[in-house]
Amino acid sequence: MTMIESKLQDVRARVAAACRAFGRGADAVGLLAVAKTFPAEAVRQAHAAGQRDFGENYIQEAVDKMAALRELPLVWHCIGPIQSNKTRLVAEHFDWVHSVDRLKIAERLSAQRPEGLPPLNVCLQVNIDGGPTKSGVAPAEAAALARAVAALPRLRLRGLMTIPEPAPNFEATLGIHTLAKALFEQLKVEGLPLDTLSMGMSADLEPAIAAGSTLVRVGSAIFGTRPAKPGAK
Ligand SMILES: *Cc1c(COP(=O)(O)O)cnc(C)c1O
Repeated sequence: MTMIESKLQDVRARVAAACRAFGRGADAVGLLAVAKTFPAEAVRQAHAAGQRDFGENYIQEAVDKMAALRELPLVWHCIGPIQSNKTRLVAEHFDWVHSVDRLKIAERLSAQRPEGLPPLNVCLQVNIDGGPTKSGVAPAEAAALARAVAALPRLRLRGLMTIPEPAPNFEATLGIHTLAKALFEQLKVEGLPLDTLSMGMSADLEPAIAAGSTLVRVGSAIFGTRPAKPGAK
């Protein structure tokens, strides 16, 4: 067994244990393997161990990996910040984007999504804890952005994504994730057809699942520690 396979098994066991502990259905929470900074070979090994969905932060690095792994039936999620000059690459190559936080980016993604592909799945990144350095739409503005994005023809609005600052303990982390869950439910009450709450990473997947995450994004617990700075790949 490869190291990646054994770590994937550990992460799946953590997700399953959290689902049992917090009363979530066995299939209620999906796993996104975050492969940023790791080579195509690492993605290949994770796929061989049954992983299908992969998250990437650096768009050019991701597109290079997709080309190297073209023959595999993978689902690619863009989870990193998107500059205007990168929207075309994202629209042409990814299946999902979790990091849309302003209408201008959404409009470009919709306009640039190729006709031959299904609509691009989108989550709005919400700055749920008001972290000063984080991207993300303010919670109070999420509903208006969601309505505008839902109206774009080549996007399919799926849900919300959060990356809160690390909190000191389980209870505090749960509290932040619960705010995101409440916003998610509120938007659904307002008629937005959301099914995805993308929250929880290696360090906080348990409180995220307790709060209602439907998709955890796990990098280091699967692939190992990343270099301090991403390479210019
Ligand atoms: C890197 C990253 C992750 C994975 O983080 P780990 O702590 O390595 O699990 C998840 N989501 C986003 C947006 C990331 O940038």
